[in-house]
Amino acid sequence: MWKDKGKSFGSLATRAVHAGEGRQKYADSLTTPIVQSSTFTFKDSKEIEAYTKEKKDRFEYGRYGNPTEKIAERRLADLEGAEDCLVFSSGMMAITTTILALVRTGDHIIMTDDSYKKTLEFCNSYLKRFGIECTIVPFGDYEALEAAIKPNTRFIFSESPTNPYLNVFDLVRFNEIARRHKIMSIIDSTFATPFNQRPLEFGIDLVTHSATKYLAGHNDILAGCVLGKKEIIDKIRALHKSMGGLIDPHCCYLLLRGLKTFPLRVEHQNKSALTVARFLEGHAGIQKVYYPFLESHRHYTIAKEQMVGGGGVVSFDIKGDLELAKRFMDALEMIYIAPSLGGVETLITHPATVSYYDYTREARYELGITDTLFRLSVGIEDVQDIMGDIERALAKARK
Ligand SMILES: *Cc1c(COP(=O)(O)O)cnc(C)c1O
Repeated sequence: MWKDKGKSFGSLATRAVHAGEGRQKYADSLTTPIVQSSTFTFKDSKEIEAYTKEKKDRFEYGRYGNPTEKIAERRLADLEGAEDCLVFSSGMMAITTTILALVRTGDHIIMTDDSYKKTLEFCNSYLKRFGIECTIVPFGDYEALEAAIKPNTRFIFSESPTNPYLNVFDLVRFNEIARRHKIMSIIDSTFATPFNQRPLEFGIDLVTHSATKYLAGHNDILAGCVLGKKEIIDKIRALHKSMGGLIDPHCCYLLLRGLKTFPLRVEHQNKSALTVARFLEGHAGIQKVYYPFLESHRHYTIAKEQMVGGGGVVSFDIKGDLELAKRFMDALEMIYIAPSLGGVETLITHPATVSYYDYTREARYELGITDTLFRLSVGIEDVQDIMGDIERALAKARK
């Protein structure tokens, strides 16, 4: 019943609640049981043989899989339209384990420069130690991307949409380039979620998510996942068993609980974020707004073609200087100042003083991180209250 991969969002809403588990659960529990066990028992020697020789599907030791985790994997695979899924203790664990499973010394990989800072750091500095070369190409430069491909290139990796400018990659072109050169393509789809975009339907080989963000959605856990064809996921699973970046069963339950409402939340956040983006664009105190579903966004056309909604993140530059930016942040009353995104609470972050605090002003400006840039993750509060808080804080900062 939950196997249909239709694009109907009514069905996504239903599958987010039910997919991946049987109707009758342990002890007739309605909700998914948390199986808090580090190991799993064999009844007798016959059962051991059935497992080892006849390859009977069952659980053995916690690092190799857990029933609560398995259900999360099945549900996520269903929502993304993937053959298989692997859940991890964080988004970075998903990304690093995936990359390590796909490369060996002497290989070359390509990333886009708009990627998550820690992903870039992992590829640029840590992989280098093992003789794996990484070329970073400007986001959206399809010629540079194709030109960077060498005989030993294993994959191309990009986020879409990206942080903080919400740049959107043309997934058709991204896939065409990968196919033409017979290399793998990976998309970090964290900002979009399977509600707004399904990279696998464009032919992309692997999709990663920081499930910490919209999928879990309550700013209370860290989790990650990778999705794609079973054959590739099996390879990553084999390494995962050695790396051990497991999600624990309690945490996995919270992920499953969050997933039930994720289509409701994202649909609401899409609407609120567009309302906030339009409000900011019309505000005299705002210099520039970045939101993929605003006509003024550089990737508006492609975003409208390949995404259902623009997502819940809006970035904006306010008019003024660093001091004014700080006064604006300090004047907010409801919106929390915190990194992360995708949760029920509206959060704001100031990249210049947080993620790029250790950069010189020149280096920051080269990356486009101005003194007055903010990233807003729109939560599920009343959108009037979100806009009201911003309006009040902007007015106070100017006094
Ligand atoms: C947060 C994030 C990550 C890292 O995920 P964690 O769950 O924090 O480890 C990776 N990619 C993107 C796009 C993110 O937003």
